[in-house]
Amino acid sequence: MKNEFFYSDDYIGSENEKYNFYYGYEVTHCKKHKTEQECDDKDCDEREWCFTARNAVNNNLLLKLTTSELEKFKTNKWGGDSMSMYLITGINHFFNKFNESNMHI
Ligand SMILES: [Zn+2]
Repeated sequence: MKNEFFYSDDYIGSENEKYNFYYGYEVTHCKKHKTEQECDDKDCDEREWCFTARNAVNNNLLLKLTTSELEKFKTNKWGGDSMSMYLITGINHFFNKFNESNMHI
């Protein structure tokens, strides 16, 4: 049974038989612009790193949250901006949101 953890300077993630969780630079979102290129062209620095939860079997995206959304969802206080804290907050929110009855998606 797959139970993997991976990280580098600018991403962190984990994967099991059912889900793949990721937080880092490869998935970003800007409220103003659609593409990274557009942000670069307009010298915009509002692009945020994102957390994603994917179905590990078919790679379907189940949940995507920006860093500021993760900040909003945490219900206790923790300092700093450690990537592992954002990853775990995202995983917790995923399991808050997806209940047992739709675990098979
Ligand atoms: Zn932008």
